Amino acid sequence: MLPKAKTWDALQADFRWEIPAHYNIGADVSDKWAGTRRTALILTDDAGEETRRVSFAELSVMSNRLADILVRMGVARGDRIGILLPQALETAVSHVAAYKMGAVAVPLFTLFGGDALAYRLENSGARALVTDLENLPKIEEIRNRLPELETILVTDGEGALAPDAERRGIRPFWPTLARGYERFGAAPTTPNDPALIIYTSGTTGQPKGALHGHRVLLGHLPGVEMPHRLFPKRGDLFWTPADWAWIGGLIDVLLPALHHGVPVVAHRMRKFDPQRAVDMMAKLKVRNAFLPPTALKLMRAADAHNPELKLRSVGSGGEPLGEELVAWAKDRLGVTINEFYGQTECNLVVANNADLFPPKPGSMGKPVPGHRVAVIDTEGNELPPGEVGEIAVRRPDPVIFLGYWHNNAANTEKLRGPWWLTGDTGTVDEDGYFWFRGRADDVITSAGYRIGPAEIEECLMTHPAVAMAAAIGVPDPERTERIRAYIVLREGTHASDGLADEIRNHVRTRLAAHEYPREIRFVAELPMTATGKIMRRTLREAARNET
Ligand code: ATP
Ligand code: MG
Repeated sequence: MLPKAKTWDALQADFRWEIPAHYNIGADVSDKWAGTRRTALILTDDAGEETRRVSFAELSVMSNRLADILVRMGVARGDRIGILLPQALETAVSHVAAYKMGAVAVPLFTLFGGDALAYRLENSGARALVTDLENLPKIEEIRNRLPELETILVTDGEGALAPDAERRGIRPFWPTLARGYERFGAAPTTPNDPALIIYTSGTTGQPKGALHGHRVLLGHLPGVEMPHRLFPKRGDLFWTPADWAWIGGLIDVLLPALHHGVPVVAHRMRKFDPQRAVDMMAKLKVRNAFLPPTALKLMRAADAHNPELKLRSVGSGGEPLGEELVAWAKDRLGVTINEFYGQTECNLVVANNADLFPPKPGSMGKPVPGHRVAVIDTEGNELPPGEVGEIAVRRPDPVIFLGYWHNNAANTEKLRGPWWLTGDTGTVDEDGYFWFRGRADDVITSAGYRIGPAEIEECLMTHPAVAMAAAIGVPDPERTERIRAYIVLREGTHASDGLADEIRNHVRTRLAAHEYPREIRFVAELPMTATGKIMRRTLREAARNET
């Protein structure tokens, strides 16, 4: 979608959205390439060995059959279909089928327990669900809370389902799909018709269901092209350890790659294994990867590398990345990571592309062509360079979601005039680079200063003993809040008062006297969301209960 140009300024100047009157994600990512011999998915086993290649033609027919049978079973346009599966063929088929039907896909993490699933399935009012035998028991346990859930398809269920399963609406996926007709006319959806409810990570509170229209994929294309070095190029092949249930896996990797006819590796990693990730990418000749900061931190801690690795582009985002990881990746993965910024509600609006402009270490980059991003004050005025305010995106913009599902209060809170408020604070500099400061509600107020935890955490990460770090403010009678850091040490390093002093001094000399953590706590792990983000809110609550 990006025009051909050599500089960011030219891209920005020449960019025009091309949003057709009718657009259906499902038809776009499968039927469009069905007449070619291209591979859509490369399936792998647990060890990362290739087991099967699935062509676009197959994906097109499989999704047609599933869409057809679901329609005949009574699932209608606008109905929600939960998809509780890891990266797998059935996951892609279910998504494509849901979009073709004009239904609304609700991706769900397999890591979720019963309560998390009940919340999302109840909230979305899902009528059908696709899952596997491993996850089925969790659903059976909460089924009485889900009166709207009529049909459950189980992907590995053939021959293994209980005798009374069918009576309870539980059917095997593949035999059911086989009863569908191989042709299916995709619903004539408009770009603004709902396609997807994707829940936020829940880093700051209860996760919110972000309802996206079919346009969301078109809105994302420039944001994938920019950090992935004008993706796609001949020979590209995409993989991410991020689950496809998250916007980062689904809309930043799976669907844009398929839109461009680029194959995607499907691999289920129960627990992220840094060396296996690198080995698999090398063996399958993965060229493009989205590696979230947590994955990169684990790779760095394990010094994962493989001389055969030939990555062309790596994007990262979702949390602050920090210079340290960028330098490590350049050295060990042989590629400059292009950091980007976005959120479930309006993803990928700021990004780097080291070919187009020199990255400034620590900056999230510049606005992706097609998006107008600014730092604004509480009245909605754009702030001059250097001044801290809230990061906002100008509407209308196809990448911005349609609204929170059944949560009007949250909708009105986040719209200020023509702006969509991200809830993140930051600055923009003289050269147009964006700098993340913190989530509006993570800000630490200490001795009259407002301090974002990101800077402190990034600085902590530059200390050789530190594997992961989180900074929060804890109540303090004199300074309102004092900064406390929770630190996970790298393997082989031992906690001591001496080390705590050394780390404190490390930050004090690099940042500022008011920004160093007075308290250091060494911990074995940090509380994280399923997307691998540090939940500072949980740390804050625990700290409050201590006093
Ligand atoms: P919730 O809204 O439920 O609290 P969440 O905001 O973590 O969860 P996501 O939509 O997955 O859910 O994450 C988006 C947020 O991640 C952004 O609003 C921002 O705070 C953070 N983020 C994304 N990219 C970056 C980045 N490059 N640097 C720093 N923070 C980032
Ligand atoms: Mg959020």
